[in-house]
Amino acid sequence: MGKVRMYTCGPTVYDFAHIGNFRAFLFEDLLKRWLIQRDFRVTHVMNLTDIDDKTIKGSQKQGVPLQQFTDFYVKAFFEDIKVLNIKPADVYPKATDHIPEMVALIKKLMVKGIAYKGEDGSIYFSVCKFSDYGKLSHIKVDELKAGARVSQDEYAKEDAQDFALWKAWTAEDGDVYWVTELGKGRPGWHIECSAMSMKYLGETFDIHCGGVDNMFPHHENETAQSEAATGKKFVNYWMHNEHLQVEGKKMSKSFGNFHTLRDLLTKGNDPIAIRYLLMSTHYRQQFNFTFEGLESAKAAVDRLRNFVRRLHEADGKESSGKVANFIAKAEACFGGSMDDDLNIGIALASLFDFVREINSLLDANTVSKSEAADIGGLMMRFDAVLGVIGKVEVEEALSADIDALVQKREAARKAKNWKEADEIRVQLKAMGIVLEDTAQGVRWHKEKA
Ligand code: AMP
Ligand code: ZN
Repeated sequence: MGKVRMYTCGPTVYDFAHIGNFRAFLFEDLLKRWLIQRDFRVTHVMNLTDIDDKTIKGSQKQGVPLQQFTDFYVKAFFEDIKVLNIKPADVYPKATDHIPEMVALIKKLMVKGIAYKGEDGSIYFSVCKFSDYGKLSHIKVDELKAGARVSQDEYAKEDAQDFALWKAWTAEDGDVYWVTELGKGRPGWHIECSAMSMKYLGETFDIHCGGVDNMFPHHENETAQSEAATGKKFVNYWMHNEHLQVEGKKMSKSFGNFHTLRDLLTKGNDPIAIRYLLMSTHYRQQFNFTFEGLESAKAAVDRLRNFVRRLHEADGKESSGKVANFIAKAEACFGGSMDDDLNIGIALASLFDFVREINSLLDANTVSKSEAADIGGLMMRFDAVLGVIGKVEVEEALSADIDALVQKREAARKAKNWKEADEIRVQLKAMGIVLEDTAQGVRWHKEKA
């Protein structure tokens, strides 16, 4: 069995994550689920950035200690990923629990003469000492301003220069500092991910993910620090997801154009429809968030759920002889598309073609119970990757009360007593039961909350 070691940049826990962030986490979830489906044993590490410029500012603004402040958002993050049916990582290292590893890595860079202490007491990475600097984001080192330095965590390519590995304490940091061999201070954001990824996955690992906004400076700097320290290749494959946008602009806290998952849930949206929406565009394509898009996602998810529910009723006495072929075709097309750099658009199209094909066989009552079980098996394999159908409640759960009401309504309809039939439909609706009239008679299912 092949093994994959993957590291994904986790949330900066200074606020609730917005759905742009979840686009990144859902792409990573899809990638991981697909690798597992293809029999890889995946070790997944996702860090929690609980110390950086933003968390310090946030905790000071609220007037609470850093840890208390970040713990709150860590807890919220875990609640959110559960609601979105994201498979948990194997390890969630917190930056504040790994200061010794970061100090050791910085010391190694100092010994090699690649890191130096500035007159401000902070320690910087000297980009001109690492000849491969820029290879990930294709920034040119000769464009860098010689001797210039940047100490904030986030900055633009145009401002690229020696960056801070360790930031000497200043009054702005308040009571947030560690006293170490490097002096009193705190780590820069980039060194955190180098130290934590290599600790849990080794000096070279397979896949590193994050949003495209992280490519520079974060991932460029991670690569430089790690490779300069170890002399080895840091990451075999970088995979960056494009942004979720709102009206053509990146969804982000700083633009104020964001929706948190919690906002959308409060408005009554189905979290699994949100999952579907954020996952269903290819990860390297930008896409715009709209509420109409969310409605279509909800309809798609309901279609899949109803289809699986419907399979339980199949009882065709004559087989069309087509089911095995449809299954083989759908499985091959879905798999081939996912193998092709996670081409989710084509994979989903093949899934919905399959649903349509089987639905027409079900309409003609030509799906046997055993064929239905095979179809259900394929749907379960698809859902191990998509995570949107879940355990559909089977009709066996039909209580005697609902059954009796459905039959009573049928009798009323036969007697052309439309008023009574309608009243029963309303009564069932109030119980969360939705009726569907089909060629095979009345079918019912539970409305999803
Ligand atoms: P942060 O919490 O800011 O560290 O971001 C967590 C992850 O979300 C990172 O991988 C970011 O690159 C990613 N991200 C941030 N904004 C967006 C967006 N609008 N669309 C997609 N991914 C994003
Ligand atoms: Zn990171």
